[in-house]
Amino acid sequence: MICLFKDKSECCGCSACAAVCPHNAIAMKADTNGFLYPEINGDLCVECGLCQKVCAFKNGYQAFDYQKKVYAAKNKSTAARKGSSSGGAFPLIAEKFIENGGVVFGAAFDSELKLRHIAAHTKQELAPIYKSKYLQSDLGDTFKEIKELLDSGKPCLFSGTGCQVQGLREFLRKDYPNLFTVDIVCHGVANPKIFEDYKKMMSERFSSKIKSIDFRAKKIYGQTQDMQVVFENSKSYCEFPDIDVYKILYSNNLSIRSSCFECKFANTDRTGDITLGDFWASRAIGGFDDKKGVSLVMINSEKGEKLFSQINSRLSEVEVELEKALQPNLKAPTKKPDAYECFQCEYADKGFEYVCKKYARRSLKYKAMRRAKTTVKRLLKRK
Ligand SMILES: Cc1cc2nc3c(=O)[nH]c(=O)nc-3n(C[C@H](O)[C@H](O)[C@H](O)COP(=O)(O)OP(=O)(O)OC[C@H]3O[C@@H](n4cnc5c(N)ncnc54)[C@H](O)[C@@H]3O)c2cc1C
Ligand code: SF4
Ligand code: SF4
Ligand code: SF4
Repeated sequence: MICLFKDKSECCGCSACAAVCPHNAIAMKADTNGFLYPEINGDLCVECGLCQKVCAFKNGYQAFDYQKKVYAAKNKSTAARKGSSSGGAFPLIAEKFIENGGVVFGAAFDSELKLRHIAAHTKQELAPIYKSKYLQSDLGDTFKEIKELLDSGKPCLFSGTGCQVQGLREFLRKDYPNLFTVDIVCHGVANPKIFEDYKKMMSERFSSKIKSIDFRAKKIYGQTQDMQVVFENSKSYCEFPDIDVYKILYSNNLSIRSSCFECKFANTDRTGDITLGDFWASRAIGGFDDKKGVSLVMINSEKGEKLFSQINSRLSEVEVELEKALQPNLKAPTKKPDAYECFQCEYADKGFEYVCKKYARRSLKYKAMRRAKTTVKRLLKRK
C-alpha cells in the first residue's frame, strides 16, 4: 500500500498527488480541523508510485537558475494600495496579465466565505483575489483546469503559497512557456475549523450573517493589519491585530498547519517566477516607506523579469540587496510554539471559546491602553 506521509507534519496539502493520479484514486479530505490531506482509495490505486514522485514536500525541488533581483515597490495608485495587503504589486501584475489575454488564478472567498482558488478572466473578476486571507485555500481542480488551458495555448498566471506553486509545477511535470507563477512569502496557514468557529462567534455577536472579512484592513489609524468584519445588517467590526482573537491565535502560531513548522519553501529558493511579500526592512529604504504598504518583490526567473518589466512604469521601486530584504520566513520555517500541542488538544476537547479565553483574551485595561496609545501617536503625527 502506498504511503504518502507518516505524520501530518509531512504533508502541506498542496494536492499535487491527488491531481496527478491517473486513476483518480486520491481525494483531498478534511481532517477534524478542516485541513485537507490526501486519502488513497485502495480499490482504485494500482501502486504506480506517481503520487510519491510529485511530492516536493518530501523530495525537494529544483530552484530557478537565475540571478535574483529584489525590490521594495509601491503601486503608484494609493487606492490600489489600500485595496491590497502591502504595496499593491499583485494587482498590477494580475491586471496586466488579463490585459494581455491571460487567465489569473488566486485565492478568493466564495459566497459562504470558504476560501478557494478561482480563475479570473476579466479585471472585474480579479477583485476577490486581492488581499491576504490567513487560512489555507482549497485548490479543488485548479491544477487540472490550468493544464487544460495551458495545453490550449492560453497564458495562465497562478498565485499562491510557495507549496501550492511548487505543487502545480510538480503536477505539470514540464515547463510551459505560457505559465507564469507568483508565490507569496508565507508564515503559515491557519486552521479552517477555527475560521468557521470565528465566523459563527462573530455572527452571533452581531446578530447577522457576515458579508465580508478583511484580514488586512487599512482602516484604524492607518494601520495595515487590522481585522475587519462587515455584516449583512450593515454593522461592522474593526479591531487591532493584537486584540482580535483570530489574529492573536494566528500570529502566535497556535492555529497554523503543523506542516508549516517544517516548511520546505521558507528560504530564498523561491518557487514562483516572482515572489511577493511585505517589505519589512524599512531602514534599508529610508523615506520610501510611507507606512501605507510597501511590497517586497523578488524576481526569480526570466519570465518574472518579463512580467515585471511590463508593470514597472506603474510602480515606484527601489532595488535592494537580497540580504537587506530578508525576513524570518525567507530564512527558516516558523518556529513551533511550546504550547502548540496543548492548544490543539484543548481546542479539540474544550472548543473555540475555551481556547480564546485561555490563549487570546485581552483585559479591558490592555484594550483601553492600546487605543489610547494609538490615538496619541496619531495626534502627534498630525502636528
Ligand atoms: C497565509 C499568508 C501568510 C503570509 N505571510 C507573510 C509573511 O510572513 N511575510 C510577508 O512578507 N508576507 C506574507 N504574506 C504575503 C502578504 O501578506 C501579501 O499577500 C503580499 O505581500 C502580496 O501583497 P500585494 O499588496 O502585492 O497584493 P495582494 O492583493 O494583497 O495579493 C494577494 C495575493 O495573495 C494570494 N493569497 C491571498 N491569500 C491566500 C491564501 N490563503 N493562500 C494562497 N494565496 C493567497 C492571492 O492569490 C493573491 O495572489 C502572507 C500571505 C498569506 C496569504
Ligand atoms: S500509486 Fe499511482 S494509482 Fe496509486 S494513488 Fe498513487 S498515483 Fe494513484
Ligand atoms: S504531494 Fe502535497 S498533498 Fe500530496 S502528500 Fe505531498 S505534500 Fe501532501
Ligand atoms: S508555511 Fe510553507 S508549507 Fe505552510 S502554507 Fe506556507 S508555503 Fe505552504
